[in-house]
Amino acid sequence: MKTKIVLLGPPGSGKGTQGEKLSQELGFVRLSTGDMLREAVRNGTPLGLKANEYMRNGGLVPNDLIISLMKEKIASLGEGVGIIFDGFPRTVEQADALGDGIDVDLALNLDVDDSELVNRLTKRRTCPNCNAVYHIDYNPPKKNGICDKCGSELYQRDDDKEETVLNRLRVYRENTMPLIEYYGRKGTLATVKGVGSIDEIFGMVRKTVL
Ligand code: AMP
Repeated sequence: MKTKIVLLGPPGSGKGTQGEKLSQELGFVRLSTGDMLREAVRNGTPLGLKANEYMRNGGLVPNDLIISLMKEKIASLGEGVGIIFDGFPRTVEQADALGDGIDVDLALNLDVDDSELVNRLTKRRTCPNCNAVYHIDYNPPKKNGICDKCGSELYQRDDDKEETVLNRLRVYRENTMPLIEYYGRKGTLATVKGVGSIDEIFGMVRKTVL
């Protein structure tokens, strides 16, 4: 059984959605650096204050901040816990830091075309409280603008606006795409086409993991 899983793929490829379903099915912890950073920004912590500017422009938060955040988080979980990494690593330096302590069993790459990503991201709505995500056409909440899971009011992330989305895709191609080759060389890479309904994609994800 694979217990340390990295989700690769561009922003909007479904890492959060599929990662959440997988963590529920397997009882694994899902660690999303994006969720952690947004919480730090909301709470105005020193990390949040440093990260905010990078995030608003769709750039990457510096490696040293992310690596120490994740090392601390991983250490707090203890040995033997199944972990799904969502949004981390995003650079080769982060991948090396993760590999220095954790044996990644599977790097699951969700492959989605750019035009589809822009549509998904600009029409995405997020719950500020429980981090659930919706799409206003494909996966709308039952009640307009309200989270099904916790009843909070949904919002559009600043970085899901079109100008920033295009920059995030550029940043992904330059900094994160090399990780596909990185994990390919290590023999842990699997690619799943992230297109279709959430459940169809999950069927393929599940088969790859189990
Ligand atoms: P996400 O929710 O994964 O799309 O992340 C939102 C934003 O948080 C990104 O655009 C980055 O600014 C920042 N971020 C998240 N994870 C990382 C990471 N591993 N390295 C650097 N920046 C990150």
